[in-house]
Amino acid sequence: MAIYDPKSLKADEFINDGEIRDTLRWAEEHKNDAALIREILDKARPVKGERGYTCKGLTHREASLLLENDDPAVLEEIYKIAEEIKLAFYGNRIVIFAPLYLSNYCVNGCVYCPYHLKNKHIPRKKLTQDEVRNEVIALQDMGHKRLAIEAGEDPVNNPIEYILDCIKTIYSVHHKNGDIRRVNVNIAATTVENYRRLKEAGIGTYILFQETYHKESYLKLHPTGPKHDYDYHTEAMDRAMEGGIDDVGLGVLFGLELYKYELAGLIMHAEHLEAVHGVGPHTISVPRVKKADDIDPTAFDNGISDETFAKITAIIRLAVPYTGMIISTRETEEVRSKLLRLGISQVSGGSRTSVGGYAGYSADERPHDTEQFDVSDQRSLDEVVRWLMENGHIPSFCTACYREGRTGDRFMSLCKSGQILNCCHPNALMTLTEYLEDYASPETKAVGYKMVEEELKKVPSDKVRSIAARNIEDIKNSNRRDFRF
Ligand code: SF4
Ligand code: SF4
Repeated sequence: MAIYDPKSLKADEFINDGEIRDTLRWAEEHKNDAALIREILDKARPVKGERGYTCKGLTHREASLLLENDDPAVLEEIYKIAEEIKLAFYGNRIVIFAPLYLSNYCVNGCVYCPYHLKNKHIPRKKLTQDEVRNEVIALQDMGHKRLAIEAGEDPVNNPIEYILDCIKTIYSVHHKNGDIRRVNVNIAATTVENYRRLKEAGIGTYILFQETYHKESYLKLHPTGPKHDYDYHTEAMDRAMEGGIDDVGLGVLFGLELYKYELAGLIMHAEHLEAVHGVGPHTISVPRVKKADDIDPTAFDNGISDETFAKITAIIRLAVPYTGMIISTRETEEVRSKLLRLGISQVSGGSRTSVGGYAGYSADERPHDTEQFDVSDQRSLDEVVRWLMENGHIPSFCTACYREGRTGDRFMSLCKSGQILNCCHPNALMTLTEYLEDYASPETKAVGYKMVEEELKKVPSDKVRSIAARNIEDIKNSNRRDFRF
C-alpha cells in the first residue's frame, strides 16, 4: 500500500487515499473540538507586519476539520477571515479573462463532458488560424487582454503544433488598441518536452483540472482514452514544472465525487507542489458540473448546494492565501456575487464556451451547437465590468507580472512583500482606464472614471501615485497603452 509522502513524485503517494481517509475520520472525530477550531481560525487570520500582511495558510487536515464543523458561528468566522485575506492580498480587484475554445475534437470518454468521443451528434469544429484571428479580434473588441485557451485531447486533430500555432496567432493580433497580453492554456496532460514548448511559446498559466482526486471514481468517470491514466494526469503539474512552467492552475469539478474528499485532495496537491517545487499553485478554479448537450448534472450524485460551495471556496481561501481563485460563467450572477467576497480573485466575462462562439455574433446572440457547458451568467463584458464596479470591485485587465517575468516564486514574493497596493492597484486602475477609454459604454465609463479617481487616492507611495495619474491621463488623451509597474 502506498505511503503518504508530499515530496514524492508518485501520484498515489502525494495524493494518498489512506491519508485522505484518515484525515476525514480525524476531522469527523474532532469537528466539535472548540479549542482546536479556535487555534485553526487564529492560524488562518492574516497578520499585519511592517511590510504588509502575511498568512500561514492551513494544512489539508486543518481545512478538512473546518469543513466538517457545522456550527453557524464558526462558518461566519470562516467567511470573515476569507474576506480579510481577500482584502489583504487582492484588495478589491478582480482580474478579468475569457475562455477561447479552439477545438472540440476529443478522443477521451469523460462522462460529464459533451465533447466525449462517443457523442456522435455534436458537431466537431476546429478553428483555422484565420478563424483564431477573427475570434481574437472579436475578443479584443470586447476589451479582453487575458485569455484561457481550451481544446479537447486529440493527437491527430489538435497536436501540440496546432496549439503552438494558435498561441502564436493570438499574440500576433493587434486590432485597434487591442492586444492579448497573456494566454493561459488549458489542454490535456502532456510530456515535459511539450510543456517546454508551451513555455517557449510564452504561455501564462498552465491549467489542468484534476476533475476528481478519488482514483476509483476517476477511472470510472474517464473510462476510455489517454485521460483514463490517473497517475499520468495527476503527475502532470510536476512535468509542467520540470518543463519550466512555474505558474500552474489546479481545479476540481465539484459534483463528481464527495466534496470532502476533493477538498483534502486539492489542498494536498497544493502542499505537494510547494514541497517539491517551492511554489504552490498560481490559481485554483472551482467549477461545478453543469448541464450541456448530452450531459445532465443530476445524473451525478455528489452535487453540492450553493451554501456548501461558498463554504468550500472560503476554506480554500484560508488554506492557500497566496493562490488566485477563479470562478467562471458556469455560475449565476448571484453565486458569483457572494463568492467574490469570499476569496475569488478572477472571473470570466462575456464568455462563450463553444468553438468559434465570438466572431460574427452580437452581444446577445450565442451559438449553442458546440457549447461545452451552459453559461449561467450570460451578461456582456461591459455589463460584468459595470456590475463589478457597482459592487465595489475594481475590474483589472492587468497582466504585468507575466510581462515583467514575475512568475512562480517571483510572483509569490510580490504577494508576500506588501507591495501589492503600490503595484497591482495602480496596474488595475491603468488597465481599467484602457478598457473604459477603448471599449466601455457611456454608462460604464461614467461609473468607471469615478472609481478610478477615488481608488487612485489609495495608492500609498506618492511617487507611484503620481506616475499612475500621469499614465491614466496619457491613456485618455492618446493611443499610448500598456503602462505597468
Ligand atoms: S473534459 Fe476535456 S478531455 Fe474530457 S471529453 Fe471534455 S474536452 Fe475531452
Ligand atoms: S501586478 Fe501582477 S499580481 Fe498584481 S494584478 Fe498585475 S499581474 Fe496580478
